[in-house]
Amino acid sequence: MITENVKRLLNELPEGVTLLAAAKERSADEISEAIKAGITMIGENYFQDTLRVINDVEEKAEWHFIGHLQTNKVKKVIDIFDMIESVDSLKLAKEIEKWCKKRNKTMPILIEVNSGEENQKTGVAPKDVAQLIKEISSLNYVKIMGLMTMGPRFGDPEESRPYFIKTREIFEQIKDFHPPNVEMKYLSMGMTNSYKVAIEEGANLVRIGNRIFGEREGSYN
Ligand SMILES: *Cc1c(COP(=O)(O)O)cnc(C)c1O
Repeated sequence: MITENVKRLLNELPEGVTLLAAAKERSADEISEAIKAGITMIGENYFQDTLRVINDVEEKAEWHFIGHLQTNKVKKVIDIFDMIESVDSLKLAKEIEKWCKKRNKTMPILIEVNSGEENQKTGVAPKDVAQLIKEISSLNYVKIMGLMTMGPRFGDPEESRPYFIKTREIFEQIKDFHPPNVEMKYLSMGMTNSYKVAIEEGANLVRIGNRIFGEREGSYN
């Protein structure tokens, strides 16, 4: 199942779009199967969940943290993840900087945009993205590599389109501005329900869970 799903998706995605497998609550065996089928990036939302599986996954992949990151978890997260896609404050970036400096490693990050400007959601407000990037770009052990957004959830993915467009516009504006120490390489948006629309609006990294691994218990899709 997983193998077929991954192959079908990889076939379907246009050139230049990377498929990340969003693997929350999945087992090491499921993750291994996805990597063997061609997945190169695994996304995890929780540090504890990741610890439970990461040592049992023998296949090589980039591990991306895609969940809400609490500052007290940063020290551990930087040791096992290759990228953090969910940075939304200077405080969090500085905490990553602090621990990466001690380890003498640089952490690639994406800035998470709250494109729906929803009160309860994580992510920085669209109007504050440029300022936050300016501040974070002065850090030495954190490297901004692009933007990530979730967007509000809808049954109809067409309703997500304006939020993807908005995030793409911010992405292009910052790219044109060429801030030092910032490489606007990844625009991470789109999930099982919305990835087609996200790609049409410029996503080059899609984070897909259910369509690879099957429906989760209590899944929102
Ligand atoms: C779960 C999750 C996804 C994937 O969602 P699906 O609907 O299962 O494809 C993508 N991004 C984040 C941040 C997630 O938590």
